[in-house]
Amino acid sequence: MLFDCHAHVWWDSFSEDFDAVLERAKMAGVEKIIAPGTDLETSRRAVVLAKKHPKTIYAAAGIHPEEIPSLQDSPGLADARLNISASSRDLLSRRILELRQLITNNREHIVAVGEIGTDKNNEQLKNSIKEQMHLFREQCLLALEYDLPIIVHTRESLPETLEVLDTLPAMPPGQFHCFSYDEAGLSEILGRGFYVSFCGNISWSKRLQSILPTVPVERLLLETDSPLMMPRDKKGDPIDLSLRNEPANVRILAQIIADLRGVSLQDIGAITTENAQRLFHI
Ligand SMILES: [Zn+2]
Repeated sequence: MLFDCHAHVWWDSFSEDFDAVLERAKMAGVEKIIAPGTDLETSRRAVVLAKKHPKTIYAAAGIHPEEIPSLQDSPGLADARLNISASSRDLLSRRILELRQLITNNREHIVAVGEIGTDKNNEQLKNSIKEQMHLFREQCLLALEYDLPIIVHTRESLPETLEVLDTLPAMPPGQFHCFSYDEAGLSEILGRGFYVSFCGNISWSKRLQSILPTVPVERLLLETDSPLMMPRDKKGDPIDLSLRNEPANVRILAQIIADLRGVSLQDIGAITTENAQRLFHI
């Protein structure tokens, strides 16, 4: 059995042939999928899918750092402590309140707060890092309050991500998804008790392929990040020319991971499924 811990199956490109996507996943041995939202609307969609497909799809609710509206500080409104404007903070507070309501009303279908975190991948994102850290922190607090693990997105922003985590009243359990850092980054993450997963990047990055065997197997999870991060073949071409990744492809990644670790696909499937069930209380 395989468990895709990160697939945005609420994405519009899945709406036409959703049942076929699920069927192909089942045929590939993928019996469970976590669908993380990236804003309030998609978190709601994830909950709808979880209600419709109990014991197969589980929802995570959260606001992704890339959703931060590009609000500029208004002169005179800057909050000295957070260095973000009062108007930005008000807007984010309203979003958090809505997220709280969504979780309260659907607690039994929601297994994590995610996808949340920080991102400094481009100039616009770099400029909103203070707002991102504020939003990430608020959502971590929500996770602690509801006793939920977090699903963390961090790109070019590990120090900022760790800074938020290290100043929480307690470290929440969780998953660092789509791992892209080095050995030092990995040990920072593992040292804080987190689980780690790789997505399509493990099919082409030699650097990540050399790091993967050093992840303790009891901390490893599988994910596709569908419909993004399509795995590539040995020549570097996408394995599917439709360019839409889907949960069935977690089998391809599981095979790559099994080969890199010198174990069987069945073993990797069994252990990572057990890990996911332990982390997400499924
Ligand atoms: Zn994602």
